[in-house]
Amino acid sequence: MSLHLERERFLPSGLDTKLVADPGNGFWGSIYTALWERFGDPYWWPGRDAWEVAAGEVLTQNTAWTNVEQALVGLRERGWITADAIRLTDQDELAPVIRPAGYFNQKARKLKELAEWWGNRVESGAVESLGDDELRDELLALWGVGPETADAIACYALGRPLFVVDTYTQRMLARLRGLEERPSYDSIQSEVDEELPRDPMLLNHLHGLIVVLSKEHCTARNPQCGDCPLQARCVVGSQV
Ligand code: SF4
Repeated sequence: MSLHLERERFLPSGLDTKLVADPGNGFWGSIYTALWERFGDPYWWPGRDAWEVAAGEVLTQNTAWTNVEQALVGLRERGWITADAIRLTDQDELAPVIRPAGYFNQKARKLKELAEWWGNRVESGAVESLGDDELRDELLALWGVGPETADAIACYALGRPLFVVDTYTQRMLARLRGLEERPSYDSIQSEVDEELPRDPMLLNHLHGLIVVLSKEHCTARNPQCGDCPLQARCVVGSQV
């Protein structure tokens, strides 16, 4: 059995990569189309099932995915890759296993709290009756879960139409518009929410595509604008 997670992807039930709503020709729709035409399906988010995706979202806070993979491999080797197993595992035993992901004592507590919530809401089926905003609020109420983690769990593990904003998105948008300050999380999410259809697969792809762009072109230093699919609509890129 391969323990490598990079090319595995979980899709919540009902989502089909071929069924993506028309993004339109507005600002975000044009970005989506340009990125899709260049990169295609970003194959996002890695994981084998909903819980593994959710756990990965917690583990990836402030660390690279390669470190998360090591932590997930450790969990798999011990059979602790379900929410039930995390609930039954002592926090002090869990922490050293996820050490590769960093902040392991904090993340062990976060995983334990998320696993409790998962049992009460997801495994019980109660999550189905929660609206998107209610679900987000519940996730945000968990210790150590901020907007990015909450939206990522809601979108990638539970198939809700919530756009995940991250530092890549903020950096890309600031450069596209020639802004000195990066736009806030909430302002970007509201903008996307108002313009694009509330389609979970579309929003799933858009976030993944921005990550791909940010790793291949719109890097923190020395962005590679020359071959960037967004150069024609970018203030910074047009000055290169
Ligand atoms: S043109 Fe350059 S600055 Fe603009 S989005 Fe592309 S890589 Fe980033």
